[in-house]
Amino acid sequence: MIKKGIRRQIVLHYFLVVFMALLLVEIIFLVAMRTYYYDSVYSHIDSHIKVANEYYQKYRLSDDNTAQLTEIMSYFELTGTELQLLTPSGQVLISSNNFDTDTVIKTSDVTQALAGETSRWVGKQQGTGQMIMAVSSALQNSGENQFVLRYTTSLDKINEKLLNLTLVSILIGTSVLATVLAFSIGLANSIVKPLNNIRAVSAQMAKGRFDVRIKGNYKYELGELAATLNFMAQEIIRSNQVKDDFISSISHELRTPLTSIKGWSETLISGGYDPEETKVGMQIITNETERLIGLVEEILDFSKLQQNEMKLVMGIVSLRELLQEIMLNLWAKAEKKGVSIKLESEEKPIIYGDANRLKQIFLNLVDNAIKFSHENGVIVLSIEMEEKFVTVVVQDFGIGISEEHIQRVKDRFFQVNHVNGGTGLGLAISQQLVELHHGSMDMESELGKGTTVKVRLPLPEGKIPIAGGFSEGEEEPMALPQGPSDNDS
Ligand code: ADP
Repeated sequence: MIKKGIRRQIVLHYFLVVFMALLLVEIIFLVAMRTYYYDSVYSHIDSHIKVANEYYQKYRLSDDNTAQLTEIMSYFELTGTELQLLTPSGQVLISSNNFDTDTVIKTSDVTQALAGETSRWVGKQQGTGQMIMAVSSALQNSGENQFVLRYTTSLDKINEKLLNLTLVSILIGTSVLATVLAFSIGLANSIVKPLNNIRAVSAQMAKGRFDVRIKGNYKYELGELAATLNFMAQEIIRSNQVKDDFISSISHELRTPLTSIKGWSETLISGGYDPEETKVGMQIITNETERLIGLVEEILDFSKLQQNEMKLVMGIVSLRELLQEIMLNLWAKAEKKGVSIKLESEEKPIIYGDANRLKQIFLNLVDNAIKFSHENGVIVLSIEMEEKFVTVVVQDFGIGISEEHIQRVKDRFFQVNHVNGGTGLGLAISQQLVELHHGSMDMESELGKGTTVKVRLPLPEGKIPIAGGFSEGEEEPMALPQGPSDNDS
């Protein structure tokens, strides 16, 4: 017995469907064969009866002339059958086997014959118990039933043939069923064996063994399932690796400023320094503390975004002024590397968004552009207007990103090179913040040639509410701090 499971289900279903189909076909076939055999016997007798009747109409008989009756009966006989001549009341006058004279026969063929129709009756013969077919027809004289001509024939041979046919069809049916059974077990095994293997490997994966893989060249959905599970294990290993990298890089990021803070505070506590030296030390402590705060804030932002807890404080924002402010903020950093930042295009789009978060996005992108530009490089910021969207483009001509890495730079904690500092969270956070503004962020890059980041944000529809009234999208509604002039570095 096959134990419960998919294998049993498949085998059982196949078996049942084929069994039912075979049963139906065999029943139809055997019934058709039986009808065919019985009909041909009947029509053979029926055509003989027609001839006999015509003959009778020529030489009418009288029931008291037994010698004549017996003689004429010999003309009516049909090989393979027995002939009886009955009176209209069903009494046998003459019988070709000479046995059943005087018995009264009331089978349906006789009653139908008296009603004017030739019909057959199939059943067991009185006395012998043999299966027979009886076909009767009335012999009439001037419209009156005078005799009933009754032919009976044994059905034993036909039934024996039918029995043989039944046995042969049962044999064929059984061998077809056995083939189907073997085939369905094979099919079920081809599904269940890989499934069991996949299940065993995934159970190991569930226990944390992500180095195991599903081996075997499986086809179709099973192949896809195996490939998906293998891919999942590989991704888990990769994301664990990324997390480990993050922990080591974040520890490094935390350790450097902390070491510097600790060093300078110990130095200052030991005393004996002039005010100028003390000021330098305090400045370093302040800068490093700010770096630490920035780092922690980035991690907090990321965790808020992950838990969908980031709330935007929406308002109207002038993108041009926001970019000018960012250029001002990063001016010193760019200057240190000799990098110039240019704001091209004269567009002054107003959008509806969270000014601080939008600033965070572009600060991160421009900061990356500076970080990965060559010495004395150029960064170009531009604004492209569409009917319902505005796109801010941040383009640098720095080290660029390879095709292999570009897919992953927006992943959390991913960094092409850890020595550049940072957490690898900047782009992941920017991407999510842009999406919160119903926009999109795309990156194009070529290794050694530079990187272009495009942030596409929706423009507000209709009029924008501003303090003290309404403004059209094109107007400059806000007074933001004056940034450096266009094309400034
Ligand atoms: P972080 O800058 O803190 O490392 P980001 O998420 O901002 O994290 O960037 C992830 C990685 O993507 C960076 O470490 C860097 O390898 C790559 N990257 C980002 N921007 C640029 C760029 N403009 N040019 C080259 N590489 C970049």
